Amino acid sequence: MRIRRLRLAGFKSFVEPAELRIESGLTGVVGPNGCGKSNLLEAIRWAMGEGSPKSLRGGGMEDVIFAGTSARPPRDFAEVTIVVDGEDGETEVVRRIERGAGSAYRINGRDVRARDVALLFADAATGAHSPALVSQNRIGAIITARPAERRAMLEEAAGIAGLHVRRKEAEMR
Ligand code: ATP
Ligand code: MG
Repeated sequence: MRIRRLRLAGFKSFVEPAELRIESGLTGVVGPNGCGKSNLLEAIRWAMGEGSPKSLRGGGMEDVIFAGTSARPPRDFAEVTIVVDGEDGETEVVRRIERGAGSAYRINGRDVRARDVALLFADAATGAHSPALVSQNRIGAIITARPAERRAMLEEAAGIAGLHVRRKEAEMR
């Protein structure tokens, strides 16, 4: 599975709709401090279902919505779309949050649960907590991880994390 396109609107500093194409190979994001490089990575994690505002450097989930500046009013919603391609062709995953209304997800235009998005990415051995997405200051944490934590990272990388998500879901029924 590869992320091919990323669309943002009202997400953090990306107030105007923006679309980025991600080509094959290595992608670098460069720019001055504070220009939004980390926000891009957070947008990907958020669309994949990240549920912790703190790990998105916010106090609450609505903090991902453009908060306004002296020159621009705040927005009412944030929306991030990631287009991935895999064995079955392209899949479009959308997460949207509205002030006071929480998050909603769509896969290929159909309303789905957060769980469905988690399963989609877990089966592809990636996801909001994938060791493939390493944010600033997290590299040290991986190096010093306890064996159990490191095992979880290896399981995820090996593509069996989806089984654990399914097992947890089965246990809750
Ligand atoms: P560095 O090089 O320092 O790591 P960066 O390019 O990674 O910087 P980010 O941390 O992605 O930059 O972007 C920070 C900017 O995003 C700040 O200017 C901050 O004000 C802005 N920002 C974050 N959340 C919001 C929000 N909800 N509304 C408006 N702007 C926001
Ligand atoms: Mg940064």
